[in-house]
Amino acid sequence: MLIVPEREIADLMTRDAAFAAVEKVFAAMASGKAYNFPVVREAIGHEDALYGFKGGFDRAGLTLGLKAGGYWPNNLEKRGLINHQSTVFLFDPDTGKAKAMVGGNLLTALRTAAASSVSIRHLARKDAKVIGMIGAGHQAKFQLRAALEQRDFEKVIGWNLHPEMLSNLEEVAAEAGLPFEAVDLDEMRAADVIISITSSFDAILNADQVSPGTHVACMGTDTKGKQEVDPQLLVKADVFTDEVAQSISIGEAQHAVAQGLIAEADVAQLGAVINGTNPGRISDDQITLFDGTGVGLQDLAVAAAVVDLAVEKGIAIEVDF
Ligand code: NAD
Repeated sequence: MLIVPEREIADLMTRDAAFAAVEKVFAAMASGKAYNFPVVREAIGHEDALYGFKGGFDRAGLTLGLKAGGYWPNNLEKRGLINHQSTVFLFDPDTGKAKAMVGGNLLTALRTAAASSVSIRHLARKDAKVIGMIGAGHQAKFQLRAALEQRDFEKVIGWNLHPEMLSNLEEVAAEAGLPFEAVDLDEMRAADVIISITSSFDAILNADQVSPGTHVACMGTDTKGKQEVDPQLLVKADVFTDEVAQSISIGEAQHAVAQGLIAEADVAQLGAVINGTNPGRISDDQITLFDGTGVGLQDLAVAAAVVDLAVEKGIAIEVDF
């Protein structure tokens, strides 16, 4: 069995490799060659932790496994560890033998950023110039860095409930040599692409604060009850997702579907656009919305890619198991 420790991931995994792995597995999901297993997520009654598993099998890439982990809210204060902790386990689909164990913390941020980037590549207008960020936490930096590589953006605008965190976005914009402006939500109308990545449980962005032609990637809502945008925005938009079952139950579409504003059939897989079986954006006035709920197959895809890179560079630790 091969082990790739968390400390090695930053030097191994690139944004390009994460993008390629996620795009490929979204395509495999849409063509029925890869599927996710039901998600398990439990409050374990110890350290206020939420722990669970996300797994799946990609028959096209022959990737089988799961990500185990969750959220330990006391880690940082008590132990100086980050609160989100996860590990990916890969198995040989021919034999069931354990194949690899890979640190999953940085990979989670990279695969989540890759998902919104894949949506931007396939759904945003080619001439998009202004990117708007809602949220400025840990994930937001990864999201913005990856998104900026998808179009010739000229400006970053941002809103966050806690304005003191906006410097995170300003830093990433500066790295790319772009100006940053803190805005109010009405000024999001200037954005051609909007990414929301918050832990909000209420709608932040109203439908009338999004201009025609905008692509919106809703990335924060990954649990029942969470919400980032007005359900009316999903009525106005063409809605795409990583996985429809998750989108309508734990993703942003859960609210519009529960209120009867849209139906399950109104939510399309982004993978179908990648495969060319769904036309995706068909006009410059259309609002497209990607509901990125986060699927286990994304984790497995980036973990498998990082194992290959680790083997190539002689970094993978081999253990007899
Ligand atoms: P973080 O704690 O670093 O940042 C949280 C962000 O949400 C900050 O911008 C904060 O100001 C904002 N926020 C907090 N409470 C809010 C509220 N009530 N209303 C509006 N904004 C609020 O967290 P993070 O690691 O950046 O994660 C952000 C979100 O992304 C979380 O909800 C997390 O579960 C989700 N996430 C989704 C995926 C996916 O695949 N879709 C993957 C990883 C994380």
